[in-house]
Amino acid sequence: MLDGMKIQKRIKWLKPYILSAKNLVDLTKLKSVTGYTVPIYKETNQQASIIYNIYGKRRYDIKLNLKINYCLSKKQTNVGIASFLDSLAHELSHIEHIEHTPEHFALQAKILLRFARVLKKTGVNFTDKRIKL
Ligand SMILES: [Zn+2]
Repeated sequence: MLDGMKIQKRIKWLKPYILSAKNLVDLTKLKSVTGYTVPIYKETNQQASIIYNIYGKRRYDIKLNLKINYCLSKKQTNVGIASFLDSLAHELSHIEHIEHTPEHFALQAKILLRFARVLKKTGVNFTDKRIKL
């Protein structure tokens, strides 16, 4: 299932979340999941994105923003677990539905239910905590 899919080392803990979506999303199309940070002097207004490549079998690359910038105080914190997983569910849902349709929205909701199970299983009790990197 995950053979040939790359998950960046610092967000390897996302693996059970990604796998939990396996019969909702065709994960054989997912090539990579990468975290990035925006330089401190820039606003972070984008949470995540998905890049589509028409060539090859694994076509999708998901990019997730890892930090929130507070430009005025020049501080950076890791994003919260809830918004991070929400972004991941949103982008995973795009593998099946390119546009922001009701179907895309419904699939995102189904993926989030799976994520909730993983949260319980792995003992994450509060999603307002920041992600670990
Ligand atoms: Zn979207």
